[in-house]
Amino acid sequence: MKLFTPGPVEVDPKILKEISKPVMAHRSQEFREVLSDVVEKLIRILGLENGHLAVLSGSGTTAVDAMVWSLMSPGDRVLALVHGEFGRRAISSAEVRGAEVEAMEAPLGKSVEPELVRRRIEIGKYTHLLLVHNETSTGVAYRDLKIVAESAKDRGMLVLVDSVSGLGGEELRMSEWHLDAVASCSHKALASPPGVSFVALSGEAAGELRDGLPPILDLRRYLDFYTRRRETPFTPAVNNLCALRKSLEHIMSMGIDAYIELHRRKASLLYEELPKLGFLPLPDEPVRSNTVTVFRTPGLNAKEVVSLLIKKGFRIASGMKDKAEHLIRIGTMGNTSLEDLRDLIGSLNEVVGELSGQRTYKEDLESGR
Ligand SMILES: *Cc1c(COP(=O)(O)O)cnc(C)c1O
Repeated sequence: MKLFTPGPVEVDPKILKEISKPVMAHRSQEFREVLSDVVEKLIRILGLENGHLAVLSGSGTTAVDAMVWSLMSPGDRVLALVHGEFGRRAISSAEVRGAEVEAMEAPLGKSVEPELVRRRIEIGKYTHLLLVHNETSTGVAYRDLKIVAESAKDRGMLVLVDSVSGLGGEELRMSEWHLDAVASCSHKALASPPGVSFVALSGEAAGELRDGLPPILDLRRYLDFYTRRRETPFTPAVNNLCALRKSLEHIMSMGIDAYIELHRRKASLLYEELPKLGFLPLPDEPVRSNTVTVFRTPGLNAKEVVSLLIKKGFRIASGMKDKAEHLIRIGTMGNTSLEDLRDLIGSLNEVVGELSGQRTYKEDLESGR
């Protein structure tokens, strides 16, 4: 089975081998070297200067929750930009924390206008801007991140970014773009097994970390431990960190710009070929993600497309929630080649043929589905 899911992703066998090595003690010099190496490499990939990085064990959600909870207090006033399901999840985390959240939601497949954000920020007295860099449910990459972050910083707000499916596949320059916190993880574009997540913090954000959190989400503890001992406060996913280190080595030997470009080329192939099979890209062209491509499936049930592809050895994803029958999502992240993608497209073509008896393409288009 080849994974073309929007995470987790195919992992290179050389990287997987790290998982089966003997487990290191997490209070050993050997482990400190692994952790420091991972932290230094991530900091370079993030473009972070004079900042800090907390390495957690858990999924992308762990990192997003730790970021939101460690940098918000009850009563904080948050402006959130929403391009789909993960934007709503970040809001829900902030609301459970007790923040007052106002959302600006873009129409499906479009992005929030930065000028509207600027105007809203000028009148709104917000403390935080919260947004998803690359929205995995709709395939919208928010490429105006830098512009809205500047507007927010002009008003003294903290800028919190979920880049779980962006980092490594979409350009992100944390310090240059004035981002205060970025949450991401091992098993999306960083092409490693699930298990490690992390939150990067600007110097300003590190000084704003809140107290009184459950230990596992308390980023202050992670930074203290790392500063003093090059360790984590609790037992980390040691072997997964070894795998992530190996994957980061590969990414850096290639160069981060070339690595992003590879994702862009893989995505372009899908945006070019799939319309020929009747699958229509959901996002407007300027905001089409490099890492998660999302297509409408007029006339076909997306869930059936997904099941038939599994029989052919490829796993993609259908839409989330109410979009499950109407969208397919294909990830370009992980250890897959352009050749693999061509095989996938060939199989998708067969699937379309197998389902074509049921196809009411034109009617669906006319009814605007
Ligand atoms: C995958 C993803 C998450 C959640 O990650 P998990 O590892 O499933 O917890 C959050 N945000 C975005 C944008 C994602 O793509």
